[in-house]
Amino acid sequence: MVLFHLKTFGCQMNVYDSSRIVDLLSENGMDLTEDETNADIIILNTCYIREKASAKIFSELGRLKKLYKDKNPVFAVIGCVAKAEGENIFKRAPFVSIVLSSQKYHLLPELLNKALIEKKIIKEEELQEKKKNKTKLSHLINTELSGLEKFDCLPKQKNSEKVAFVQVQEGCNKFCTYCVVPNTRGREISRDEQSILDEVENLQKVGAVEINLLGQNVDCYNGLDKDGNKSSLAKLIKKIAKFENVKRIRYTTSYPSEFSDEMIELHAIEPKLMPLVYLPIQAGSNEVLHKMNRRYTREQYLELIEKLKNANPNIQISSDFIVGFPNETEEDFQQTLDIVKRVKFIQCYAFKYSPRPNTVAQKMDGQIDLKIKSDRLKRLQVELRKSQDAFNKSCVGRVMSVLFTDVSKTDNQYIIGKNEYLQPVIVKADAKLVGTIQNVEIESASYANLKGKII
Ligand code: SF4
Repeated sequence: MVLFHLKTFGCQMNVYDSSRIVDLLSENGMDLTEDETNADIIILNTCYIREKASAKIFSELGRLKKLYKDKNPVFAVIGCVAKAEGENIFKRAPFVSIVLSSQKYHLLPELLNKALIEKKIIKEEELQEKKKNKTKLSHLINTELSGLEKFDCLPKQKNSEKVAFVQVQEGCNKFCTYCVVPNTRGREISRDEQSILDEVENLQKVGAVEINLLGQNVDCYNGLDKDGNKSSLAKLIKKIAKFENVKRIRYTTSYPSEFSDEMIELHAIEPKLMPLVYLPIQAGSNEVLHKMNRRYTREQYLELIEKLKNANPNIQISSDFIVGFPNETEEDFQQTLDIVKRVKFIQCYAFKYSPRPNTVAQKMDGQIDLKIKSDRLKRLQVELRKSQDAFNKSCVGRVMSVLFTDVSKTDNQYIIGKNEYLQPVIVKADAKLVGTIQNVEIESASYANLKGKII
């Protein structure tokens, strides 16, 4: 049996890709191993978002290569660093056999098998035997692919976690000046609606109760429906909500100026659509938003939130922030703090700006001193923490719906799940309730989690 070890870096999209790669390789007779020291194949599914992303991958490759002194496994690098570095990976790490972008990972079985034969890990005859009833992929190699073909080559999931992820759209046309995604994931493309519905139908049959729709700009989803008409995120969600076993639906990531009235209306009427909207604003100053090439103003952002809350008063907002973007003044930063006080976000990610290779912002004048960035981040985090804390405390006494997914690692009398707002909720209950959705009365709250009892 051929063993592969798969290491995933980065975002939810990469986690999704990795789960599909596991399905694909398992279908092709390869077995996943958690043991990084004893695999025939090492795959790194890489991310280019963080600073020094490529350096980290080269260092990881070097570390893994050292583990295999006498053996010669197949190394494959896929994902965003693969796309950004391309041929350079073969030059700097000549032991790597395969470099593939995220759009092409469905080619892995064919390419891995070739590499396994070259390295004499398997024999040609064994491969012919395995191939008799496997997908024909060779004609796709070296052709230009749109990125959607991979979905036709992926096998159906045989089982699913309660919380499942489904990619509906990929790539981005927005070109924020700090971001590498349009270069690494390419331009926006949407999957056909039926292909997504088929995947969801299967997932809810094999265990999923919560479906998370993924896209870099999920609001721009516009895949074709079965009559050849353009669909939309709202239309797609309405169809997914009809599957009986699907109890919860989420979607990520939203782009404020693409958020449609159709989606706002859907939040008012569709109970399966969870009332937490993840709406990255990045900065509170119009000047900074303009320099970031974010295509909305603070006023438009606030107006959108008002519309959402008018449609459904239960809606809460989470967001992302970047502080210390080039030329950000203290006044600009105060505008960010002001937005936090107004919106009262319930969960947020906040980062210091750091330049990414080959982006417009990397070359901008007015880079901010690290000390100032750190100070602003600290002050922002204090405000964000206050609003998260206040929201958590406001949950005490409420009855919330919780999907339980785990038994506590520290005390197996407790089980853990997530409520409508993705807050972790802990209750003392039988482990057999893991996998179910229960009503929980919240009895206490801290910054990190809520505790309560099932009613
Ligand atoms: S919207 Fe901006 S930040 Fe988001 S993926 Fe596209 S370019 Fe990057």
